[in-house]
Amino acid sequence: MDFRFTEEEVSFREEVRQWLKQEIPQRWTELDPGIWEETEESWALSRQFQRKLGQKGWLTPAYPKDYGGLELSHMKRLILAEELAYNRAPISIEVEITVNWVAPTIILFGTEKQKEDYVTRVAKGDIIFCLGYSEPNAGSDLAALQTRAVEVGDEYVINGQKTWCSYGHLADYCWLAARTDPDVPKHKGVSMFVVDMKTPGITVRPLINVLNRHSFNEVFFDDVRIPKENLVGQKNNGWYQLVIALDFERSSIGGPAANQRLIEELVHYAKETKRNGEPLADDPLIRNELANVAVENEVARMVCYRIAWMYSKGLHPSYESSMSMVFASEVLRHMANVGMRILGHYGELDRDSKWTIMNARIMRMCLSSLSIGVGGGSNEIQRNIIAMRGLGLPRQ
Ligand SMILES: Cc1cc2nc3c(=O)[nH]c(=O)nc-3n(C[C@H](O)[C@H](O)[C@H](O)COP(=O)(O)OP(=O)(O)OC[C@H]3O[C@@H](n4cnc5c(N)ncnc54)[C@H](O)[C@@H]3O)c2cc1C
Repeated sequence: MDFRFTEEEVSFREEVRQWLKQEIPQRWTELDPGIWEETEESWALSRQFQRKLGQKGWLTPAYPKDYGGLELSHMKRLILAEELAYNRAPISIEVEITVNWVAPTIILFGTEKQKEDYVTRVAKGDIIFCLGYSEPNAGSDLAALQTRAVEVGDEYVINGQKTWCSYGHLADYCWLAARTDPDVPKHKGVSMFVVDMKTPGITVRPLINVLNRHSFNEVFFDDVRIPKENLVGQKNNGWYQLVIALDFERSSIGGPAANQRLIEELVHYAKETKRNGEPLADDPLIRNELANVAVENEVARMVCYRIAWMYSKGLHPSYESSMSMVFASEVLRHMANVGMRILGHYGELDRDSKWTIMNARIMRMCLSSLSIGVGGGSNEIQRNIIAMRGLGLPRQ
């Protein structure tokens, strides 16, 4: 086993770093939006940056060339993801949703026309998807979803309600799971669709998140008519496609690099700050806590490397993605709590306070980390998947 990157990969990392130094707008750094905190201004900057990455081919580095990719290796994709995360580039979660979760599923199951229509535009950074999965009575038990899509002539007519739809108010398209056969076992009557969010009959209502920002939405579908050709893959086989899309969602690979940056900042703070006349860096409890999160983050990084390696071998991570998601989310929560303990009461202050430290990043992370082990399926559900698919334990 050789954990080193090749010389070519090392120089690719350097090229990415240099490029990011030039291209991350100063204004983005000033705004410093954390996860789920985008504003109109930060959203516009993120969309501009997305297009820039698209022009370079770095938005979708490992996609096939036919659909706007560069066919770079998955190790280079990992390096790019790490550098974007470490350098806090203007990439928000909507880019992850679109580029790494939805479009790869369309590449696997879509028609040639759908790949040309959607995937090539994703690669250019021109369009954004939101996810229409959860419903008021279908979250962990997603297969219980009730939104109906009924075939009428050349169209499907959609009726129902989705909830927790992140960035539904800003997305161009919805990647929608709907029931196309109510008379079969629930997993067997679901299909996947691409729905233009401007279609008449769609109503989007805001839900305010724990950070007091508008990132979620309820989305209502009232007799929404879409062309039949917007069905992706086989009718009633959507559950299988949905599970694959969820595996992509759970196999995010950049997170530990973002955490690494934060650990470095906490170490710097501990070295620079005295409490009761003593440097924080001399406090054995703080040293211990920092060492613990450093170990955990390193393990999280290795789990991500395994996922990138699996993709590079043409394998599809499934329970491995769930392992990554459970572990990464718990590392993030632990790190936020450690950060809070190090910063003490200063850590609770928001950005508008003159006493705030690290731009209130730790406090914001504490709040947003609550949601990280829920979105994409809660950690309990991930553990059920690991028990079943990974350990071969019987389905309950
Ligand atoms: C930040 C964030 C972003 C999101 N974005 C989107 C989005 O863009 N699109 C979208 O469709 N959805 C989105 N969601 C919704 C998310 O997928 C659901 O919240 C999640 O699947 C859990 O469903 P629920 O909220 O209905 O909770 P429930 O399913 O009601 O679960 C409640 C609790 O019961 C536990 N539980 C339920 N069933 C079991 C079981 N079988 N075994 C053990 N424990 C169980 C759960 O772990 C949880 O703790 C988002 C959620 C968050 C937090």
